Amino acid sequence: METSQKLAGKVALITGGNSGIGLATAQRFVAEGAYVFITGRRQAELDAALQTLGGQAFAIQGDVSNLGDLDRVIATIREQKGTLDVLFANAGIAEFAPLEGVTEAQYDRQFDINVKGTFFTVQKALPLLPDGAAIVLMASIVGSKGYEANSVYSATKAAIRSLARTFTTDLKARRIRVNTISPGPIETPAFNAVLDTPEKMAAFKAQMVSGVPLGRMGDADEIAKAVVFLASDDSSYVAGVELFVDGGTAQV
Ligand code: NAD
Repeated sequence: METSQKLAGKVALITGGNSGIGLATAQRFVAEGAYVFITGRRQAELDAALQTLGGQAFAIQGDVSNLGDLDRVIATIREQKGTLDVLFANAGIAEFAPLEGVTEAQYDRQFDINVKGTFFTVQKALPLLPDGAAIVLMASIVGSKGYEANSVYSATKAAIRSLARTFTTDLKARRIRVNTISPGPIETPAFNAVLDTPEKMAAFKAQMVSGVPLGRMGDADEIAKAVVFLASDDSSYVAGVELFVDGGTAQV
């Protein structure tokens, strides 16, 4: 992996850093010289992720929708490093279902993890963030376009985009940059589990890819590279934007 130490000595937290886009980003961050804390719900998956990250990475088990867990995560980073320069609020879930079939439990779970989890991850991290820190929130192309059987998940991602706009204003006195990354379809474990049969998955992927000008799905490292940009001084005058990394999908 080619790197130029864009995050040398920085302390970063990536929620949901044990899998998919979060793990790919953790690998990039470590390669760029950062100390990286990853969180996730399951210790075994965190341990497996750490094996791929080496000595500058640390794992803390925690559920982003549980405020007590968030307090513990932040307290651990405070004890170990005393600061947090980069926050990537990436953890999220998707449960697709036709409008008529969405259950209250599915609705609540997605809003709890995606919206409440993102909001309180930022709120709890604030005391540790120095002036000039970088926050990246994980949204999605689906927050801006209508895909079938996607209403609740899409609404959570539009809400996250909205949080980023208001956080940018709320945090202007501290010059904290808050940006949103909005991937198109990316091959990850979560993406491949949003529907319950291989046939439905194939049809869904075909629907997604047909709307991508570059004609393919993306991979997690293509998102990770963009997060490095938003987390580093390369984007020092970029604040409040939604960066689509989606093969052109949002523009057509
Ligand atoms: P993934 O399942 O590989 O990763 C999701 C991560 O979030 C996992 O590490 C999981 O442990 C963690 N997580 C889920 N619920 C959590 C909770 N309550 N507390 C803490 N961690 C939790 O999937 P991914 O595709 O890499 O997704 C990462 C993010 O990217 C999600 O927010 C997802 O909505 C978003 N996204 C994905 C795609 C895509 O096509 N894969 C596109 C746009 C946005």
